[in-house]
Amino acid sequence: MKEEKGNNNKPLKADFKLAWQTMDVEETKTMMAYAEDYKNFLDHSKTERLCAQTAMDQALSQGFLPLAHYEKKGKLKPGDKVAVLHRGKSLMLFVMGKDPLEKGMLVVGAHLDCPRLDLKPMPLYEDTDMAFFKTHYYGGLKKYQWLTIPLALYGTVVKKDGSIVNVALGDGENDPVFCITDLLPHLSQELQTKKLSEAFPGESLNPLVASRPIDGEDDKETIKATVLQWLNDQYGMTEDDFASAELEIVPAGYARDIGFDRSMIGAFGQDDRICAYAALRGIFDAKDTPQKTQCIILADKEEIGSYGNTGMQSRFFENQVAELLSLLGYADTSLALRRCFAHSLCLSADVTAAYDPNYTGTHDLTNASFAGKGVALKKYGGARGKSGGSDANPEFLAGLRQCFDEANVTWQLGEMGRVDLGGGGTIAWMLANYDMEVVDCGTPILSMHAPFEQSMKTDAYMTYKCYRSFLDYDWK
Ligand code: MN
Ligand code: MN
Repeated sequence: MKEEKGNNNKPLKADFKLAWQTMDVEETKTMMAYAEDYKNFLDHSKTERLCAQTAMDQALSQGFLPLAHYEKKGKLKPGDKVAVLHRGKSLMLFVMGKDPLEKGMLVVGAHLDCPRLDLKPMPLYEDTDMAFFKTHYYGGLKKYQWLTIPLALYGTVVKKDGSIVNVALGDGENDPVFCITDLLPHLSQELQTKKLSEAFPGESLNPLVASRPIDGEDDKETIKATVLQWLNDQYGMTEDDFASAELEIVPAGYARDIGFDRSMIGAFGQDDRICAYAALRGIFDAKDTPQKTQCIILADKEEIGSYGNTGMQSRFFENQVAELLSLLGYADTSLALRRCFAHSLCLSADVTAAYDPNYTGTHDLTNASFAGKGVALKKYGGARGKSGGSDANPEFLAGLRQCFDEANVTWQLGEMGRVDLGGGGTIAWMLANYDMEVVDCGTPILSMHAPFEQSMKTDAYMTYKCYRSFLDYDWK
């Protein structure tokens, strides 16, 4: 079919292409190499703490220095690269620009926490000669997906004397794994008539952790004693140490290629580490000494509403920017901070739902994001009548179209699903509360919040290219 063009010689019809068809041979290689780096990042980032630390380590190797270094020097200059690891669970990186900081920043904000099963404060118990951990699920998950899959245990125990024990069990070559049982089909007639939302109560998500009685004891709870002995031998901890611990059950196993053509990635935690990694690589590869200060935020607690002092609703971000302003010599940091935020532009970097042809009816197909068509711009989120959504301004969107097209980013539009079906939130509205220009912009993925989420390598790469182009663009 002949392409119809308007009088400005542009195609009349909007055309959102498959990313594969927009890359030459060289760029395809770069894209596949990027996917390998991303999988490696995922494998070192099974919890928010590990993810923040992995990102911090990479930042330090890229010339970023902790804020404390600049505080000791007593000044900051254009081109300086600042890293702030906040309580071990969220991370901020800044590349100082030539413009005064009160003229605003370019911000890419992602999150690094994922839906999972947290251990309860007193997790260990024994029942019918088996030992289990009690869990409390974190974030929105479909509970049945967590049954009968290999699970790993990760986390941090802080003993009364302040010493820290890091736990990582289930991903080593010879590590044991854990597992939540499921009822056999033969006895599931009653279960299968229940509503999905009622069939798997949260109190039944208890991983099986031991079944051998401890030697030389025939008292009760001999299986539980086995676990306590093992924990003591391995980590020097006692049961009361669970009182000051953060231990998480996550799927065991590493990121894998999917498909004969290896064009896709399957892994736990791609929401939102796919955008977190894209932001990280974006700021690493962006121009040195930019005009406007570049910033990325990798925040914790998004999956439970961004509460807590490592979540985006906390003041940690404005506190750190105020510290930068103070180092730059601003006498009134609080006014300068308000000006800085009000002049900032922000991409809220979070995944969106790719249309899944196995579950039709979820999207208006003229306004859906598709796997393989690149990074997705989502003008607004929210539910029903856009309730709770942050709705981006078209003036900002127009600038982004120009920026992405100049950098040959394959991008698309899309709503999270059809009107009245559901919806979802991100950290966009919290950054918009600072009076920044904000829009949701992230990777479309399949099976979001499942223990094994799927993404397209092309979309992961285009997300990186998008964030990098945003940080590099000459915003007036
Ligand atoms: Mn997310
Ligand atoms: Mn999520």
